Amino acid sequence: MKRFWTKARREPAIPRTPWSWFLDHAEVCSDCRTSQRCPDGERLHDAVRRAARAAVQ
Ligand SMILES: [Zn+2]
Repeated sequence: MKRFWTKARREPAIPRTPWSWFLDHAEVCSDCRTSQRCPDGERLHDAVRRAARAAVQ
């Protein structure tokens, strides 16, 4: 069984998607974890939204 989430990620266990980029960032960003405004987080989350929109069309 594949481990879906590992702390020490030497090799990517999951495909690199906008959502995984956002999770990677949020994991180390105290602003995002406390729901503060964060330019990097906003940019990544915008990519997630655009990917989600593209997926339903
Ligand atoms: Zn952030």
